[in-house]
Amino acid sequence: MVDNGRPRPMIPYAAAPGAARPIGRAPARTVPAPIPAAEATRLAYASGVTTPRPRVGVSACLLGAKVRYDGGDRRDAIVVEALGRLFEWVPVCPEVEVGMAVPREPIRLVGSPGAPRLVGERSGRDHTVAMRAYAERRVAALAAEGLAGYVTKASSPSCGLEGVRVWPDAGGPPRLEGVGAFVAELRARLPLLPVEEEGRLADPAVRARFVERILAYDRRRRAAAVAGPG
Ligand code: SF4
Repeated sequence: MVDNGRPRPMIPYAAAPGAARPIGRAPARTVPAPIPAAEATRLAYASGVTTPRPRVGVSACLLGAKVRYDGGDRRDAIVVEALGRLFEWVPVCPEVEVGMAVPREPIRLVGSPGAPRLVGERSGRDHTVAMRAYAERRVAALAAEGLAGYVTKASSPSCGLEGVRVWPDAGGPPRLEGVGAFVAELRARLPLLPVEEEGRLADPAVRARFVERILAYDRRRRAAAVAGPG
């Protein structure tokens, strides 16, 4: 509303001067129906805006950080550009954070797929205990910071979510049955946290479902924080 180029103040309906007072019972106010959570999620995803943005962990190399064993990165355009508008990233490189250098000797999972060791490919140096101790501390800190999801780098002996190569002690070909050492701890300690690998997020349906799961997880987490300990 503009009068001589100047905006006029809005007058609330109930306070409008000269308005006839209704006779009898006041008409019931029309209250907009709340938007169902699933629909709110769909709208947020479609508009590319979620407020506040959920905090989501991510393998740091997927954001372009040069933290890989060879000094490179694995920047992923979908993670950075499509999902980066929706989430506040919490980058984590378990290998660097546990104290390994860049560049460094590559490491691999060795032994039983259910309980593999994390060892240097050439030196055989065993990082299993150090990685487990670090992962326990880091996952606890991430949970305390209100993490709502995690995107992992596929095939990594530290970050892979599934199908990571595990080399038998006796030699021979690897079995594609492992989970990265850090992500194994993440899954064990936060079993309901939505976690997905970057490669699968190229599928729009998988991506949309992942976003829905994160927003739902974050809503539950915030509601529980407001309610306090039961
Ligand atoms: S896959 Fe994980 S451990 Fe390897 S460089 Fe990326 S963030 Fe670091």
